[in-house]
Amino acid sequence: RLVSGTSSDQAERTDELSLRPHLLSEYIGQTKLKDEIGVYVQAAKQREEALDHVLLYGPPGLGKTTMASVIANEMGVNIKTTSGPAIEKNGDLVALLNELNPGDVLFIDEIHRLPKAVEEVLYSAMEDFFIDIIIGQGPTAHAVHFPLPPFTLIGATTKAGMLSAPLRERFGIVGHMKYYSVTELTAIVERSAAVFNSRIASSGAVEIARRSRGTPRIANRLLKRVRDFADVAQMDEINAEIVDYALAMLRVDKKGLDETDRKLLTTMIELYDGGPVGVATLAANIGEETETIADMVEPYLMQIGFIKRTPRGRVATAAAYAHLGMKQTNK
Ligand code: ADP
Repeated sequence: RLVSGTSSDQAERTDELSLRPHLLSEYIGQTKLKDEIGVYVQAAKQREEALDHVLLYGPPGLGKTTMASVIANEMGVNIKTTSGPAIEKNGDLVALLNELNPGDVLFIDEIHRLPKAVEEVLYSAMEDFFIDIIIGQGPTAHAVHFPLPPFTLIGATTKAGMLSAPLRERFGIVGHMKYYSVTELTAIVERSAAVFNSRIASSGAVEIARRSRGTPRIANRLLKRVRDFADVAQMDEINAEIVDYALAMLRVDKKGLDETDRKLLTTMIELYDGGPVGVATLAANIGEETETIADMVEPYLMQIGFIKRTPRGRVATAAAYAHLGMKQTNK
């Protein structure tokens, strides 16, 4: 698994590989979604049609953007990338749609943050490939009808619950991105190390994988930092020992929790006796945005069973107490 060879071999490898996989077959994990999308892509290609619109939802860093570009590649079409908040006016949307060739992908990240008026224009674009917009004001106002080429909208969101029903219903394919297993993350770390021309022992890759909160973006980020430590220490291979050392410096613990995670849990335990306590209250206590806590911090803590959601707020579980070495008082 180690990358070696002449420098021109290495340069070639670097050209060949890149951090983002290009094909479904190179996309690691999300097996069920990948298999489904493979079928829909093949069917659309056989019928020479645009792929149905796709909604991808799940926590940040799980590969939604990557999946969108993989889909475009597999379809053999171009992809245009934008985000909900970047489309401020209907005119912005018209300009984007106007540039599409038949079958192209329009990728809208953070689609839950699309302005309402823009969202409404998007309905007819998605459903019947046209847009009607009103130009001018008062007595001179008139509707202009724009036909559009058939295209595929791929929307990504961290919270499917925040999409309006009419928008959600216009996506024919809905994919729920899940946290990655340690085995999958190990494969991602090894692949990324090969892209960087870094040698990594499998024990090192597993250790990074274990501490990446189920998230490829975090795995890649930790790998880069660990590589810095290994390079400075002039190690020719990243092993579990240097991973341990580097992550201790970065204050990422054995479970992959960082200081924010631990601060959230200790606040719940010390100030609120383990809860229940509301997210907004917790966020205020540790000086973070409520949205950051709800989108980035809490979901993984729930996934590993350290936090439970109850009707009256969040509760820290016995596993969280045990991990922090804190005693649970009887309530
Ligand atoms: P999202 O759009 O969900 O926030 P991205 O698609 O930007 O996530 O992915 C974050 C990073 O993780 C990217 O650099 C990408 O290379 C890597 N990544 C994500 N999913 C995978 C995967 N299945 N295999 C390999 N690398 C991945």
